Amino acid sequence: MISLIKNLNYIGIMKAKFKTSCVECGDQISPGKEIAKNESGTWVHKHCAPEALEFA
Ligand SMILES: [Zn+2]
Repeated sequence: MISLIKNLNYIGIMKAKFKTSCVECGDQISPGKEIAKNESGTWVHKHCAPEALEFA
């Protein structure tokens, strides 16, 4: 849905600039992966931050 995409942009989906690990799933986040902030303000995989959709 278009509104969902808008919300994702609003909360600031971005691409990882360096290698880090996702606190939600424990997996690696590789540079270039899309990331988003979880409810704690920590960058996680975009798909690991379902709460982000509620921010808007
Ligand atoms: Zn993750």
